[in-house]
Amino acid sequence: LFANLSEAEPDAAFALIEAYKADNFPFKVDLSPGFYRDEDARPWILPSVEKAKQQLWSDSTTDHEHLPILGHTALLDRAQSLIFGATCKDAATIASIQTIAGTGANHLGALFLAKARRPRSVWISDPTWINHHEIWQWVDSRIERQTYPYFNKQSFTINFEDTISTLKLKAKEGDIVIFHGCAHNPTGIDFTKDQWKAVAAVCEEKNLVPFFDVAYQGFATGDLAEDAWSVRHFFYNTSLEMLVAQSFSKNFGLYGERVGVLHVVCRTEIAKSKTLNMLSRLSRAEITTAPINGARIVAKVLGDADLKQQWQKDLLHMSHRMKSMRKRLLDALLKYQTPGSWDHILTDIGMFSMTGLQPDQIRQLKGIYHIYLLPSGRISITGLTEHNVEYVAMSINKVVTT
Ligand code: PMP
Repeated sequence: LFANLSEAEPDAAFALIEAYKADNFPFKVDLSPGFYRDEDARPWILPSVEKAKQQLWSDSTTDHEHLPILGHTALLDRAQSLIFGATCKDAATIASIQTIAGTGANHLGALFLAKARRPRSVWISDPTWINHHEIWQWVDSRIERQTYPYFNKQSFTINFEDTISTLKLKAKEGDIVIFHGCAHNPTGIDFTKDQWKAVAAVCEEKNLVPFFDVAYQGFATGDLAEDAWSVRHFFYNTSLEMLVAQSFSKNFGLYGERVGVLHVVCRTEIAKSKTLNMLSRLSRAEITTAPINGARIVAKVLGDADLKQQWQKDLLHMSHRMKSMRKRLLDALLKYQTPGSWDHILTDIGMFSMTGLQPDQIRQLKGIYHIYLLPSGRISITGLTEHNVEYVAMSINKVVTT
């Protein structure tokens, strides 16, 4: 029955993680996955999360019951304030549901749109997080996946004019447009505020449906409000219905706990009530209820002034470390006079940068130097440490110059 199934390539990112684990070279470097790593390239448990866990687990009333179908109520409220702002004036019309992390929020949002609106097309940035295409393809292959030309690979800048004209000329009313709220994956480059304003105006003029994917709030710049600026601009300054997929994987370091929320901004209370009804049914049919453990941790940190203050320090710690590694890598590449354009490494935001390295050079980095990065040439800055950054720059220089 299943022998004729078509086989796809294994997921590139997860295949590299396995290959890295199996590599015994003592100086191997992992620049592929989007997971924060500490000064010794190890996973980091945020001190705010550690404290919240201790408080939760020392309370003997903490049980293992199901959450409600919509999820952890305090998490939903606090997640809303976090992304839309504490004085969220239209909160009464936002339908929010807990999801299996950011991936689940993207998936449930796509499923909801496919069932509720049956859009003709979804517009996805080129390039993007690989899963956007996967998700939309599996949810409904009849919805045409189209791309807008976000990134100029030669100059490492945003193709702003082309993006605008693509949306203006080719997108049709009711089409979905996926935006990365901040710290665009994989390019590390975001629209400026003026550019966001222009993009919002086009969405409004054409009546498109913005779908924000926010996987890096606070983690990108260390400033929660700054990283939510794009979403808040659309929310407060347009009357568009829109979706937000919110992940707590990176900004809380809760990768395996799978904490996320999907928000659908409905603009009227009747639309909100119908949306919640449909989201509940779709989620019930898929997961019944979302996981409780990570939701409790995030809700606790966001709801406790001391823990929240600690969390903001943790975010700054992570973003400062990434910024300093960006500088160290750029300095070392310049010291070796490595051919290519590298300045953007310093100005890119968040975890990722594109290197412009070619497939053969990427293969050599892995084969000869045991340095792992995605086939697209994207590096994850968090894999860099004081111990390996020089080795990485030297190896990049070698593969570029030989
Ligand atoms: N969106 C983007 C742009 C991402 O980079 C990621 C994580 N790599 C996610 C969503 C989903 O993350 P998660 O499911 O782990 O919360």
